Amino acid sequence: MCVRGLSALTKVVKFGGSSLASAEQFKKVGDIIRAEDSRRYVVPSAPGKRYSADTKVTDMLYACYDLAAKGKNFDDEFDLIKDRYYGIINDLGLDLSLEDEFTTIKACFIGKAGRDYAASRGEYLNGIVLAKYLGYEFVDAADVIFFNDSGVFDAERTNEVLSSRLAGIERAVVPGFYGSMPNDTIKTFSRGGSDVTGSIVAAAVSADLYENWTDVSGFLIADPRIIDSPLPITTITYKELRELSYMGATVLHEDAIFPVRKAGIPINIKNTNAPLDHGTMIVESTCQKPPFTITGIAGKKGFTVINIEKDMMNSELGFGRKVLEVFEKNGISFEHMPSGIDTMSVIVHQAEFEPKEQEILSGLHRNVHPDSIEIESDLALIAVVGRAMKSNRGTAGRIFSALAHAHVNVKMIDQGSSELNIIVGVEEKDFDAAVKSIYEIFVIHQL
Ligand code: ASP
Repeated sequence: MCVRGLSALTKVVKFGGSSLASAEQFKKVGDIIRAEDSRRYVVPSAPGKRYSADTKVTDMLYACYDLAAKGKNFDDEFDLIKDRYYGIINDLGLDLSLEDEFTTIKACFIGKAGRDYAASRGEYLNGIVLAKYLGYEFVDAADVIFFNDSGVFDAERTNEVLSSRLAGIERAVVPGFYGSMPNDTIKTFSRGGSDVTGSIVAAAVSADLYENWTDVSGFLIADPRIIDSPLPITTITYKELRELSYMGATVLHEDAIFPVRKAGIPINIKNTNAPLDHGTMIVESTCQKPPFTITGIAGKKGFTVINIEKDMMNSELGFGRKVLEVFEKNGISFEHMPSGIDTMSVIVHQAEFEPKEQEILSGLHRNVHPDSIEIESDLALIAVVGRAMKSNRGTAGRIFSALAHAHVNVKMIDQGSSELNIIVGVEEKDFDAAVKSIYEIFVIHQL
């Protein structure tokens, strides 16, 4: 039911850089927004790549600012940025001049206003253009998104100010990626941070849905660089997504989950270039049975395992603590720690471990007097994730028989107590074969 032209539902819609890279893309975005009255609050990224060799405006801004910070001339680079915006404005036929904005931005670059300020102008300007195109109100993120003195996002203050500001506006564009510090300087989230802004806005207006529009139709069951045309994931829980993102599956900024999850708002990942595709729904919980036992597979290379052996280890009080203390003292966090009666293995990121290797080895010898320590590097970890694994018998068995058939040697196994995932460690050279064999047994054979 609609009240005064306003839908009963409120959706916050975030559009990524590729969705707003050109006038042609802007038109698709306009059609999507106008197709549903509920799409009231819009969070844009800066214009992204129009083709694979193109440069994102954010990167152009960083490069331009780096020249300015060194006191070098950046006129040509700055003109290229202006061209990107004027290309969009002219092709859309908008009656809009950004000259005053460009003059201010240039002066701030010369005045060394900071790299974050520079990068944020991509979203800021795109927000102005999009608001004009849609006929929505523009709300500068600097006035409603806040960081504290330490540069940490201030959720409480933001939520208070943002929700009362948006309560008085029916339709608004809030640029993504940045906010302000208590001293009024601009600060950005990490790269891809417009996803986080979208989530914050969704929580502030108690949206029914946070739609995140990008250039893929949601998450895929496995990495398309390994599996040819993998099937999409239609519904995934926040917990499953955490497990997969941690292992490298990226579509959404990791921090984008928290604000909406806390507010119980689902996320729908959608494709601007294929708006009718279902995309992926990310939900807190669901009674929907996933079509396969597993929801997704993700993995990463670059791990090292340190195998520590000592007779009667199991009866030595505090053994695990003493081992981990050595890693902690050297500033290395561990990823997994499978153990046996007389063995304990610690899995760490190889790149972090390598420079500290000898300090850690001597520390372990001092702290726990092991019988032997063995190090194996070039390990890949693969997470097989699925909420349905809990209620399906034989999942682990199927994974290991698939790996055996593919002649992959399993170096490590770890199953979380939530039974949401099984992690296997394999040699890096076997990584692709392992992912393929797991995808085949659970997806292809089940079709
Ligand atoms: N424009 C920023 C980036 O390229 C933020 C974003 O797109 O979310 O990282």
